[in-house]
Amino acid sequence: MTSENRGGDGAARSSGADRARRRASSRVLVLPQTLTVKHLAELVDQTPVAVIKQLMRSGIMVGSNQVIDHNVAALVTAASGIRTRVAEDHEETSALTASGLGAGDDEANLVTRPPVVTILGHVDHGKTSLLDAIRQTKVAEKEVGGITQHMGAYQVERDGHKITFLDTPGHEAFTAIRSRGARVTDIAVLVVAADDGIMPQTVEAINHAKAASVPILVAINKMDLPAADPERVKRQLSEQNLLVEDWGGDVISVPVSARTGEGLDDLLESILLVSEIAELKADPTKPASGVVIEARLDRKRGPTSTVLVQGGTLKIGDYMVAGSAWGRVKALTNDQGKNIKTVPAGTPAEVLGFGSLPEAGDLLAVVPNERTARSTATNRERLKSTQQAQSRVLTLDEVVNQIDAGDVKELNLVLKADVQGSLEAVRQSLEHITEADARVRILHGASGGITESDVLLASASQAIIVGFNVGEEIGVERVAERMGVEIRHYNIIYQLIEDVERALHGILEPTYTDVILGRAEVREVFSSRRNVQIAGCRVMEGRITRGASIRVMRGDQALHESTITSLRHFREEVNEVNTGVECGIILQGFNDYEVGDILEAHRQERNPV
Ligand code: GDP
Repeated sequence: MTSENRGGDGAARSSGADRARRRASSRVLVLPQTLTVKHLAELVDQTPVAVIKQLMRSGIMVGSNQVIDHNVAALVTAASGIRTRVAEDHEETSALTASGLGAGDDEANLVTRPPVVTILGHVDHGKTSLLDAIRQTKVAEKEVGGITQHMGAYQVERDGHKITFLDTPGHEAFTAIRSRGARVTDIAVLVVAADDGIMPQTVEAINHAKAASVPILVAINKMDLPAADPERVKRQLSEQNLLVEDWGGDVISVPVSARTGEGLDDLLESILLVSEIAELKADPTKPASGVVIEARLDRKRGPTSTVLVQGGTLKIGDYMVAGSAWGRVKALTNDQGKNIKTVPAGTPAEVLGFGSLPEAGDLLAVVPNERTARSTATNRERLKSTQQAQSRVLTLDEVVNQIDAGDVKELNLVLKADVQGSLEAVRQSLEHITEADARVRILHGASGGITESDVLLASASQAIIVGFNVGEEIGVERVAERMGVEIRHYNIIYQLIEDVERALHGILEPTYTDVILGRAEVREVFSSRRNVQIAGCRVMEGRITRGASIRVMRGDQALHESTITSLRHFREEVNEVNTGVECGIILQGFNDYEVGDILEAHRQERNPV
């Protein structure tokens, strides 16, 4: 891939190529202002399928022709250690896949990083109390004065290992960040009150965590209460396909009490265990990448944001971009209010230095200089306004196209129904129609109206919301429109099933059959004046047409595949030659006939689905 492939006039091309070379040496990939998955794949020298898969692992569903935000592209480039910037106006982009640019992390540099944990669960089951209890017991006892301020995340230490907790519990916040393209949480701790058991939001939380492919660990809380019944909780969890260890599964459950502090040590130990299995590693020698988890305007200090560094090391003096905000790191503060000079991966810190406020969920990237920081931010600002104007809408048809373009074979649905009975009926019918190669994946199914949380989940997981005999809660329609999520309403089951069936057919990878149109045998080989070989043939069966693809067969070996440049009957150029007729054939790029070769005219025909 060279810059020539990008088009443009000659002069711009050569200066673009020069710039590209210079840039290659500083290992920065220039991304065009509008970028599709396919284009990104070319730029990073991977197949579109590999890029789609990589994004899927981050919980983002895209098709190869979909335009993606640079933040999303950064997930792919950062994983390969490629620094990027967005092209300036009229600037050409190049695939700087020169040696090393596509290379992954250097294994030798990788070090284990702390896990990032989010607490999920039903309201009043003790999420906030648990976060407070962990913070108090584990931080206050070590640091005089303890935590100074709320900044969105904090760290605790156990046996010399750190764990980072995000301070905003609940699956709405969890999924809201994910719908912005960021993956923050490594482990979800599901809090279930031992006296209350599984409640609707517990189920929602489980489904949100599953949709994000985040490992779940269960904290059975309020064990101090006489009505605590952990066995009932475990049984209910099994009904949600979450099998705890006593039930023969691999989900760890820990009985705790946020009130008495019982079991908190066990909980932390279990988190470290899950984290060890996940093998969370990062390369501290790289420039930092991360996510903004909070941002606020401090009257004295200006724009203040909490970032979670996910890769590399953030340092004072670094130029950084997050969303459309940029700046240079002036000061870094840890969760205990101490000034620090560097922030390693898996660690939150408050950052001063942004010129404007980034938004929670914006991806943070360190760039080489001020000019890059400024132009990246400006371009993103522009992109944001055009994207808002275009408002990405995800419809059933679009999902079908997207899935068709990649090798994704799932249709994600969030299913809401009026009552539990009809929910189960619809769910079963949908699971029933699953095709061999494609299937419906119900990310979340519940009775009741369509909520904002449903829309968030659908947006984060590229899903369609299907409502059966239900409406939306107030304001939800507007949110769905803004986030580009399609809500489809049905009140007749078979119509719902029929639509989904149609979509599933669409997402089945089309299969093709090779249809032979005709065969001609080479009887004689002539050479034209320009040393181009002409095959003197006789059509044995069917016909040879000028537009057909031709395969040269020698015995049962296919030697060459190409198209016809000349098809003559006697001296005349013809479009078609039928069985029994003699003809002269010149093929594109083939000059090596032998008498007895068979030229097969064939066509790929798409099989009906
Ligand atoms: P959240 O909505 O999940 O964040 O729940 P909260 O942390 O606000 O707790 C809800 C209520 O449960 C509060 O009144 C807490 O005091 C109480 N609570 C939380 N944890 C425990 C516990 O371990 N034992 C008892 N007895 N009460 C608890």
